[in-house]
Amino acid sequence: MKTTTRVVVIGGGVVGCSVLYHLTKLGWSDVMLVERSELTSGSTWHAAGGFHTLNGDTNMAALQGYTIRLYKELEAITGMSCGLHHVGGITLADNQDRFDMLLAERAKHRFMGLETEIVTPEEIAKIAPITNLDGIIGALYDPLDGHLDPSGTTHAYAKAARMGGATIETHCMVRETNQRADGTWDVVTDKGTIHAEHVVNAGGLWAREVGAMAGVYFPLHPMEHQYIVTDDIPEIYEAGREHPHVMDPAGESYLRQEGRGLCIGFYEQRCKPWAVDGTPWTFGHELLPDNFDKITESIEFAYKRFPVLERAGVKTVIHGPFTFAPDGNPLVGPVPGLRNYWSACGVMAGFSQGGGVGLMLAQWMIEGECERDTMAMDVARFGNWISPGYTRPKVIENYQKRFSVSYPNEELPAARPLRTSPMYDIFTGMGAVWGQQFGLEVVNYFAQGTEPTYETPSFRRSDAFGATAREVKAVREGVGINEVHNFGKYRVTGPNARAWLDRIMAGRVPDLGRVSLTPMLSAKGRLIGDFTISCISETEFQLTASYGSQAYHYRWFEQHEENGVTIENISDKRTGFQIAGPKARDVLSACTRSDISDMRFLDVRRMVVGMVNCIVQRVSYTADLGYEIYCDPMDQRALWSVLWEAGQAHGMVPFGMRAMMSLRLDKFFGSWLSEFSPDYTPAETGLDRFIAWKKNADFIGRAAAEAERAKGPARRLAAFVVDADDADVQGYEPIWLDGTVQGFCTSGGYSHHAGKSVAQGFVPTDRVQDGLAVEIEILGQMRKARLVTEPLFDADGARMRG
Ligand SMILES: Cc1cc2nc3c(=O)[nH]c(=O)nc-3n(C[C@H](O)[C@H](O)[C@H](O)COP(=O)(O)OP(=O)(O)OC[C@H]3O[C@@H](n4cnc5c(N)ncnc54)[C@H](O)[C@@H]3O)c2cc1C
Repeated sequence: MKTTTRVVVIGGGVVGCSVLYHLTKLGWSDVMLVERSELTSGSTWHAAGGFHTLNGDTNMAALQGYTIRLYKELEAITGMSCGLHHVGGITLADNQDRFDMLLAERAKHRFMGLETEIVTPEEIAKIAPITNLDGIIGALYDPLDGHLDPSGTTHAYAKAARMGGATIETHCMVRETNQRADGTWDVVTDKGTIHAEHVVNAGGLWAREVGAMAGVYFPLHPMEHQYIVTDDIPEIYEAGREHPHVMDPAGESYLRQEGRGLCIGFYEQRCKPWAVDGTPWTFGHELLPDNFDKITESIEFAYKRFPVLERAGVKTVIHGPFTFAPDGNPLVGPVPGLRNYWSACGVMAGFSQGGGVGLMLAQWMIEGECERDTMAMDVARFGNWISPGYTRPKVIENYQKRFSVSYPNEELPAARPLRTSPMYDIFTGMGAVWGQQFGLEVVNYFAQGTEPTYETPSFRRSDAFGATAREVKAVREGVGINEVHNFGKYRVTGPNARAWLDRIMAGRVPDLGRVSLTPMLSAKGRLIGDFTISCISETEFQLTASYGSQAYHYRWFEQHEENGVTIENISDKRTGFQIAGPKARDVLSACTRSDISDMRFLDVRRMVVGMVNCIVQRVSYTADLGYEIYCDPMDQRALWSVLWEAGQAHGMVPFGMRAMMSLRLDKFFGSWLSEFSPDYTPAETGLDRFIAWKKNADFIGRAAAEAERAKGPARRLAAFVVDADDADVQGYEPIWLDGTVQGFCTSGGYSHHAGKSVAQGFVPTDRVQDGLAVEIEILGQMRKARLVTEPLFDADGARMRG
């Protein structure tokens, strides 16, 4: 056995083999895979082998498209068969919400180059004749759907990797992973120790155990899952063609042809987590005992939807475990806090996603970054607050909701509340309707009187509309208050703090007492953060950015640590409030003995507010006159008391995230992971205006950003006023221009201040001009929209800066 290598991939399931193949494909040949048994010995061998592109996250859907297209390439390279059956598939809709979701997906697919189509019940009858169409409104047809041979495909990945120089060691169990002082790894196996620069955990069912060897908890959990293969069915084998896949979300089932019969699997409500306290090492090529009790209702439903099933006997039952992360997406990327340790686990649909996971991880390892935004599957989307006690109920919820409609405004209930600020009970008493972000409870809006305290999930304007309108009005006419607990916050200190910031951030590092806004770029010039920097002293800076991306950002900071600078993640150690609106100054001055009359827009000061030592900065995402007031969480309630009491004379109201997102639209402010993400660049989004081109520092991404500036971006972010009805843009709707799709939306919503539906999105640069008429496809309907360049509020900035 080789004892030194560049990379050891632990685990020879479909995911590990895909990672290995992609490493060789991108140029690393000194790579090795270690498998404790035979290849496919975890979940992989008993998978149903189905694949499809449908995924609520657009980047995940694109990676699924990549995975499916890869199989032909693999067959061509290796001469092996993946057992491909590209039979196409339909996803049924039996109610308007499900149909809305399919319409929204179809619209997204237009600019992703996926050729799905909406089909009518009559067309469904031709495509999938065994379907009982009672109550069916329509379906989404995807010609790429199909299935394959799980074992053949995994071996094809393995052969392609070997052809690229990789080594595979089977019957070789990894017992320990020990890091050396230089960041390299000793991988201790049954057959000896391998010294590697990098380790990839692709341990599938055992990923938790493999992670524990390096002291890491991976938030995933195995679930039991069952599918049934029937005896021969004449309607199937006499049809003269292979029956396509049918996904029936109402019955939580997927169905396809298997031989001369059918194969049907269920995501049942009475699901069962497996191996709660750890996956036994003794588990191998075996199945779980059949369990029809938990799928009785599902089978009954399936008999109604596909009556041929009732007459068919059961040939085989496959019941096995596979793993899920809390949100059902894979856990991929560099593990925060560990050097050279990579995750490729939590992949619940290895045959839809394995190729994309392998490609992204290989790009990350070899090129330093991925070609697209991987936030939906980044292992850093969970923080160190995560625990098995959180993961288990979330995984159960995710399994149960596998076929449910995912709504843009939906807040899932499992494992909540987990993390709360000192304001939780006070705001609950005031009617707060809570959402969750990175484990933290965040107010969406405040219900009053008989207003619902639960926001019904919807693709259309929700029942939060009235409350949001009220909160927006209160901010624009008086003063509103909300918490700043859900900002990611960092304290950067030390003699080299300024120099470090100058290298990490593309924008200007502010002078003492000032605040600046800056993009953070990857080496390839992609946006990996939009930060606010406050210079508290020459050796102390506060950074604020997205709360949900704090593990992602902090990982980047750690990777770029330097002597003479200390970077602390203080997201939960510093909290406070934002007050915004024309009366905000009056409220703050009533609470402090400091003179704030000369405090300019983008000033920052230490200040005592009431009894509390605070950092106050004059900036607000509401685009209004506003202040962010930061304090220690232990002081937060005292700060609240003084601000709230002073606010009463000015009609202060608390406001939530729904109002905040409406307010920012008035000024077309972008939001992280919608307008600003690693999929986009500063020039495309207009964030190039914050780049300090003249600064001396060679900031990360400078060369790429300069090259883009010289060439000019092909597309640009623009704002639109939309002639919408009861549904606003959510994100990724296609923008039609001259009868073709030439752009897509990044986000949108309703501007309660202006009384207009607003969208933001990309269109070709040479078409960006005020008044440009476009159409935006919202839930299958073409909506007229007009490009607008003048903000809907405070166009000259007088209020914000005044
Ligand atoms: C009943 C069922 C049906 C399914 N149907 C589908 C489907 O239709 N389509 C689809 O896309 N997905 C399906 N899946 C899911 C699919 O099986 C998984 O997504 C996929 O197999 C995950 O692959 P993996 O490589 O991550 O993990 P695994 O297949 O579990 O592989 C992990 C490997 O790591 C090895 N390993 C672990 N620890 C060590 C160690 N310490 N040393 C050495 N080796 C180690 C294991 O032996 C194992 O071979 C199904 C799953 C089940 C249970």
